[in-house]
Amino acid sequence: MLDLVLHNGAILTQAAPPRAEAVGVRNGRIAHVGNNTQVMAGTTARTRVIDLSGRTLVPGFNDAHAHIWKIGQLLTTMLDVRGTGSIDEIVRRVRAFSTRLPDGAWLLGRGYNEAALREQHAPTRDDLDRADPNRPIVLTRTCGHMCAVNSRALRLAGIDASTDAPYGGVIDRDERGEPTGVVRETAIGLINRVMPAPSASDYERMIVAALDHQLSLGITSSSDCGVRPQILEVYRALDANAALPSRVNVMPLRRVDGVPDPVPLPVRHVSDMLRVDTVKFLADGGLSGATAALSVDYRHEPKRGVLRFERGDLLSLCRESQQAGWRIATHAIGDVAIDQVLTVYESLGPHPGGLAHRIEHFGLPDAAQLSRAARLSVIAVPQTIFLRSLGRNFRSYLPDAFIPRTYPIRAMLDAGIRVALSSDAPVVEDDNPLVGMMAAITRKDDGGHAIAAEQAITAEEALYAYTMGGAIATGDEANRGSIEPGKWADFAILSQNPLDAAPEALPSITVDMTFVAGRVAFER
Ligand SMILES: [Zn+2]
Repeated sequence: MLDLVLHNGAILTQAAPPRAEAVGVRNGRIAHVGNNTQVMAGTTARTRVIDLSGRTLVPGFNDAHAHIWKIGQLLTTMLDVRGTGSIDEIVRRVRAFSTRLPDGAWLLGRGYNEAALREQHAPTRDDLDRADPNRPIVLTRTCGHMCAVNSRALRLAGIDASTDAPYGGVIDRDERGEPTGVVRETAIGLINRVMPAPSASDYERMIVAALDHQLSLGITSSSDCGVRPQILEVYRALDANAALPSRVNVMPLRRVDGVPDPVPLPVRHVSDMLRVDTVKFLADGGLSGATAALSVDYRHEPKRGVLRFERGDLLSLCRESQQAGWRIATHAIGDVAIDQVLTVYESLGPHPGGLAHRIEHFGLPDAAQLSRAARLSVIAVPQTIFLRSLGRNFRSYLPDAFIPRTYPIRAMLDAGIRVALSSDAPVVEDDNPLVGMMAAITRKDDGGHAIAAEQAITAEEALYAYTMGGAIATGDEANRGSIEPGKWADFAILSQNPLDAAPEALPSITVDMTFVAGRVAFER
C-alpha cells in the first residue's frame, strides 16, 4: 500500500534512468519510481495522490555548506544590513534598530560589504559611535570573517592601542596605532569572548526559522558548518524532541575564536534527521574581504590574507579527529591555504573508516592542487552563488592571474573531483539553489560580468551537485540525493523543469511543495 503518489510529472531522478513520470512513497521512503501506470497500480483508497500536471519533481536540494543558526539569527534577533549602499545608511539603520533594544543590550548586525558601499571601506568605530555610543555595537561583515565595532564594544573587549592581535587575527589601526574598530579573523574572538551568548531557546528559534526558510526553497538537507558546543547541544535536543523540520549535518568546531584551548571531540551522532560526524576547521579567511591566504599580493592592497593555523597545529587536531573516526571539512580559499590543507590531508594517510575529507570553498586551486585533491578523493564544496553576489569583490581584489581559476568548477569535475554546490548563507543573501545553478551555468555576477566563463558547467551537472553532490559530501548517498527506491522521500515540486529553462530564467522557477520523508514540509 502506498501512502503517497506523485504522478504525471517530469521526475529528474539523478539516477538511472534519469527520467520518470511517477513516484510512490511508503513509510517515508520511496517505494516505486516509474511510469504513471506502473506506479498508480500500487494506490489504494487511502493513498494521497498528487497530480504534478507536467510539473517537475527533483530530489530535495542539499545546501552542503551553510550556517543555519546564523541564517536564523538574521531572521530573528539580528539587524540585517545586507544590501545597504552607504555607511550613512548603515548608521541610520543601526540607530533605528537601537531604539528598539533594552538599555545596555549589545546590538548585533550583519551583512555589510565595503565593495558595495559608496565609501568603499568598512564602517569604523567613529561611524558606529555616531549611531549609538551608549551600547556595544558589533556589525559582522557579510563573510563573517571581519567585524566593525564601536568604541563601547572595544572597551568591553579590552582592545586598545597596546593590544596584540592573537595568532591568525588582525586588529586594524589608524596612523596613531589606535584600533579603527575593524577586527579580522581570530581577533573577532576578543569580542566574542565578552559578548553575551544567546540562550538555548534563542538558538532553537533561530535554527527552526532557518530550516523553514530553506524548505521554502526546496532544501531538505543542509549543513551547519562550524558550531560551538552549546549550539550542538541545542541540535541534539531538537532531534531528541523530533523538532527538526529537515535533515541537518552539523559540523562541530575544534577551534573557537576567543577560546584558547581546542574544543574536545564531541560524541558522534547519526540519526535520520541529524548527523554529527564531520568536524570543521578554517585554514584561512574569505575572498570577498581579502583575508583568504594568497601566494601573491591582493590587487588593491599589499597584503596576502591570513593563515589561521600553524600547519603542525592543524595536523595534530586533524589526526586526532581522523583517528576517532570523524570526517574533516576544512575551509580553504586562497592557494596558500589550499596547499596547507592538502599537505595536512596527505600526511594523515587513509581514514580508518574509509571516509573522504572535504575542502570547503576551494576557491583558487591551481592545476597541481586539483590533481592532488583528486588523488586524495577530496570532496569539494564550492559556492558558485558567490560569483553572482560577490563577483564585484573578486574583480576588484584578485590579481589578474587568479581570475581564470576562481571557483573553477569545470576544472574540478574534469579532474575527477566530486563537487557539492552550496550557498554559505548568510554570506549571500539569496541562497536559492536555482540561483546557484544559474551562476554555475552563466558564471555571471549581478552586473552581468562573467568570471572565468570557461569554468561553466551544465544545468544537469549543477542540479546533480546540488542534490547527489550534497548527499555524497554528507556521507549519506545511500539515503538521500536521488529519487530511487529505498531512499527517503525528500522532494521538491518545481513549477518548471530547470534543465529545459534558459539559465537566466532559473530564479523565476517556483518551489510549489517540499516533502521530507513523504510529508508536506512546505506548500506555496
Ligand atoms: Zn562558511
